[in-house]
Amino acid sequence: MFAVATAQAPQISAERIREDVRVLSSDDFAGRGPGEIGEQKTVEYLSKAFAAAGLEPGGPDGSWTQAVPLVRLDRLPGAVLSLTIGDVAVPLRLGEQATLALRNPGRSQVTSAPLVFGGYGVVDGARGWDAYGGVDMRGKVVVVLANDPDFEANRDLGFEGRRLVIPGRIGSKFEAAAKAGALGVLVVHEDAAASYPFLQVANADPLPAFVFAPLKPSPLQFNGWLRRDVAIDLLQRSGLDLEALKRQARDPAFRAIPLQGATVSAAGEVKATDFTSHNVLAKLPGESRPGEYVLYGAHWDAHGRNGPDAHGDGIRNGAIDNATGTAEVLELARVFAKGPRPARTIIFAAWTAEEKGLLGAEYYAANPVYPLATTAGVINLDPHVVLPAARDVELIGVGRTELELRLAEAAGRLGLRVTPEPNPEAGWYFRSDHFPFVKKGVPSIAFRAGRDLVDGGTAAGNALVGAYNARHYHQTTDAFDARWSFAGTVQEASVAYEVGRRLADDAGWPGWNPGVEYGAVRAESDAARAVLPGKGQ
Ligand SMILES: [Zn+2]
Repeated sequence: MFAVATAQAPQISAERIREDVRVLSSDDFAGRGPGEIGEQKTVEYLSKAFAAAGLEPGGPDGSWTQAVPLVRLDRLPGAVLSLTIGDVAVPLRLGEQATLALRNPGRSQVTSAPLVFGGYGVVDGARGWDAYGGVDMRGKVVVVLANDPDFEANRDLGFEGRRLVIPGRIGSKFEAAAKAGALGVLVVHEDAAASYPFLQVANADPLPAFVFAPLKPSPLQFNGWLRRDVAIDLLQRSGLDLEALKRQARDPAFRAIPLQGATVSAAGEVKATDFTSHNVLAKLPGESRPGEYVLYGAHWDAHGRNGPDAHGDGIRNGAIDNATGTAEVLELARVFAKGPRPARTIIFAAWTAEEKGLLGAEYYAANPVYPLATTAGVINLDPHVVLPAARDVELIGVGRTELELRLAEAAGRLGLRVTPEPNPEAGWYFRSDHFPFVKKGVPSIAFRAGRDLVDGGTAAGNALVGAYNARHYHQTTDAFDARWSFAGTVQEASVAYEVGRRLADDAGWPGWNPGVEYGAVRAESDAARAVLPGKGQ
């Protein structure tokens, strides 16, 4: 390729990234579980590395951390979930046929709650959808489909076609069902709709859940996934057909329908433990406009130490997800600290508890240490894809912010092109740490090395991504591999450097594209930026 701009490329070191990934994903760090021994080691390692790079502590009290108060919910052994259809009881094997998350601490018990099919489970006044309108959901448990009504309809029903939108996220379905009075939600697992294989949710079944402290009681007693064949069997025994129901549910007039003679029971006990987790924050004060910020972030956490899997391994090392992104942020800190001082202050953040619902970044966005109004942009590094060199970078959530133009320019300078994410139905835009900032109106981008590999092209890239998602994503086998070249990781970090360097040196305030809802949120703080020398992009 014509790497004309290599003179501008920063000295991102594959070797330093490799060493950070190796250490952070070693068994010694025990899968970097928040509140576990791995957190202490990770926070210490990152703080030391930022200090060694010459950065200043970025925490609110002059330390390297921001405390994040959390509660850990452990489901104790012995929990049960069972269906009854007519006179036939169908106990489900948790972690194999279904999953069960009990949402309140202490003992929960739901006995013979009537089951209802809720279609896509969407309640969205603006779009005119209400799956539960006029249906008495009190005391019932709803079975819903994953994703939004049009993702596989081959037409746009108002939910942006194949791309996942917020009402299609399972969290939105839980909220809608709870509001309607339901006791529980069971989601039918289909690979495409969920965007990950059942094995992944099944293996995560016994993992603890984390929420912000103080704990608020949940009106929803439980939620879970049903393996596809289990759901099909349940529907058939109630005289219904999954595919026919899907067609029926792709209509704003659809209302939840009872599953005749079908009930569900769930019971078990949850232990709640309060603890303090930590975001790690470092800063490089700006030369001429220190009150304006560019923020790089990556989540440091993985899934910690859990019960052993089929191979007897209990540590989900999180080497790719997300020791690579964390190592990139460390390397960016080193490169920036060595280079000419940027005009704006750069914040380097390693977030906790992303895997538990973006909790660390969400906490920072709600309790910002540096004003969000004068944070010009957030660059999130959570790649979980290929490691060899690629010809492209993959942009998550296309068409939202002017930062994307800067990304395309930066990538172009490094001889790379920007490819839109190939699976917008997976909703990655909502699934990593840029999103809490997006909701607060801060222009943010997330991207990762692309799949068009220098060696083997898109076919080779797709094969690597497919294998990773099927076998390693969130599993104990997401572990360090000495054969990795980290060439793609260096590309990610180099592009991130290019975007952030320019943003930190110029006076621009990237905005949101016309019609993007987050632009209105940003506009609320226009006055704070109007007094500064910078202008709109
Ligand atoms: Zn991740």
